[in-house]
Amino acid sequence: MAYAIDKEQCIGCGTCADTCPVSAISADDEGKYQIDADSCLSCGACAGACPSDAISEG
Ligand code: SF4
Ligand code: SF4
Repeated sequence: MAYAIDKEQCIGCGTCADTCPVSAISADDEGKYQIDADSCLSCGACAGACPSDAISEG
C-alpha cells in the first residue's frame, strides 16, 4: 500500500518532499502536499519525518 497525506493535518513544511527518495511528493495548487501513489515505494521515510503526523499508510 502507498502512503497518503492527511491534508487537514499537513502544515505545508515540505519536509516529506525533501525526504522522499523517489520524489513522489509534491505540492498541489493550494500548497498542500500529496503523494503520487504510483511512484511511492512505501518506504515510510516521509511518515517518519513529518512533524505533524500527517502521513500514514493508506
Ligand atoms: S512533512 Fe508533513 S506537514 Fe510537512 S509538508 Fe509533508 S505532510 Fe505536510
Ligand atoms: S513512503 Fe517513501 S517512497 Fe512513499 S512517498 Fe513516502 S518517502 Fe516517498
